[in-house]
Amino acid sequence: MESFDCDVIIIGGGHNGLVAASYLARAGKRVRILEANSELGGATSSVCAFDGFDARISRYSYLVSLLPDSIIKDLGLNFECISRSISSYTPFERDGIDQGLLVSREWDSKTQDSFDALDPSGNESLAWQSFYAEIAEFAERIAPTLLQPLMTRSQLREVIALPEVWDYMIEKPIGEIITSRFKDDVVRGIVLTDALIGTFASAFEIQANICFLYHLMGNGTGEWKVPKGGMGALVSELERVAREAGVEIELNQRVTRVESDADGVSVTTSNGAQIRAPYLLSNMAPQLLAQLRGTMPPQSLDGSQIKINILLKGLPRLKSGIDPTVAFAGTFHVNESFTQCEDVFDLAKRGQMPQLLPVEMYCHTLNDASILSPQLAEQGYHTLTLFGLHTPATLFDTDNDVARQAALKSALTSLNQYLAEPIEGFIAGIEVKTPLDIEKEIGLPRGNIFHRDLQFPFREDGTVPSWGVETDDPRIFICGAGAIRGGGVSGVPGHNAAMALLATA
Ligand SMILES: Cc1cc2nc3c(=O)[nH]c(=O)nc-3n(C[C@H](O)[C@H](O)[C@H](O)COP(=O)(O)OP(=O)(O)OC[C@H]3O[C@@H](n4cnc5c(N)ncnc54)[C@H](O)[C@@H]3O)c2cc1C
Repeated sequence: MESFDCDVIIIGGGHNGLVAASYLARAGKRVRILEANSELGGATSSVCAFDGFDARISRYSYLVSLLPDSIIKDLGLNFECISRSISSYTPFERDGIDQGLLVSREWDSKTQDSFDALDPSGNESLAWQSFYAEIAEFAERIAPTLLQPLMTRSQLREVIALPEVWDYMIEKPIGEIITSRFKDDVVRGIVLTDALIGTFASAFEIQANICFLYHLMGNGTGEWKVPKGGMGALVSELERVAREAGVEIELNQRVTRVESDADGVSVTTSNGAQIRAPYLLSNMAPQLLAQLRGTMPPQSLDGSQIKINILLKGLPRLKSGIDPTVAFAGTFHVNESFTQCEDVFDLAKRGQMPQLLPVEMYCHTLNDASILSPQLAEQGYHTLTLFGLHTPATLFDTDNDVARQAALKSALTSLNQYLAEPIEGFIAGIEVKTPLDIEKEIGLPRGNIFHRDLQFPFREDGTVPSWGVETDDPRIFICGAGAIRGGGVSGVPGHNAAMALLATA
């Protein structure tokens, strides 16, 4: 009988690779992770990005919703997420007056008053409450299916048993329900942004529905929470449990070739190592796996966001007069009305950088100061995480450095429109990551934050049973974001790839 180096090779030590490794090692498999970079975590890392400042920012991903509590419990992770009492604040100017819409996580009198000021008829607040109550029911029913083999479209529709919601969430472009239920452009935009994060689509394309669903179904509530200690805290815990389960982890081991035959899979690394095992899981994007295997890569949209990380000496005041510790504690929407998002999408499709970028941001340190040294916290320092929409990789192809500066200017100009004091006066450190930077640093093809386009969490009727992680080779599985039900910080494809492999081997 052939002797293998281990039972399972995992290419990539992102959070999903670590989740898969732990489940497999606990089931008795000998697992070896080969990570290209000198650190684990991929898009879930925390770093001290600013020289001379002890502030550990979540460099790429920054909020958690999709990670099922059951994975945290199964693996015994000592990892906590903090609820934000403020869901969002959206500044806007109307009739020359600076105002804002404040939405608390739980509907309360402050939220009611804020909606009433924006729309004294009460229609928008009623529309908001009924729409999100329907979605909450949908989310509650779909969430438990994510860690099971994929249901077919018909099976899932039947299990969810909310045909009207299914119709507008899955079958018709999400822009239709948003524009029919809501009348106010600002309110429509707040609802729409969940359909656009990391997805270069119009409100009237089904790809936006898929993105919307992923942003609202996490843990059955869709609540986005703050990772205590930053995203790197999750990686540290995953590394701890993986090592305790006996997983071997090798850093600086870039896999350059993957070959398989009827008995096993062999990988070659850039250091010249050759490793062979009966099974392989790929935590890297399916496009990259295809390159290494010499097969046809799947089609996908480019990444379409810039991420800006800022260390601030203090918080700027707002023109609307709201307390900045309230405004910045939840998601702060800037120039993200429905019309602005659609217009900027059209502009970017034509290859142009907008003057006023639609941006959303939040201040981690208002919810969790533990990422700052006690000295910085005492001096009033804060971090801002900015996520700019509709900046596809194509805008950066000609000259990444020049376009990065243009995108930064557009984002800060956009933000400054609503500040009483320009943000520039508060910046102690800043870094900007374009889709091309993200591709170069952590290998997300064209900067796509989900590795490839998100897919609905079901399989079509009549297709073969699957976990959504299989490839054309029965010995190779996808355990990363590019699997069906991958994408985001979730551990779901890591769990599902481990289950699919254990069901086979
Ligand atoms: C800017 C940004 C913001 C985001 N914000 C959020 C957010 O707030 N919340 C959220 O839920 N999601 C967010 N996401 C998405 C989320 O972070 C990713 O979808 C998720 O982390 C992917 O995890 P993964 O483990 O599947 O893959 P990755 O994190 O991409 O890990 C893959 C690993 O494989 C390694 N690798 C690649 N090629 C090779 C090779 N040839 N050999 C060996 N190793 C290799 C990489 O170095 C990497 O460590 C964001 C992503 C980005 C980029």
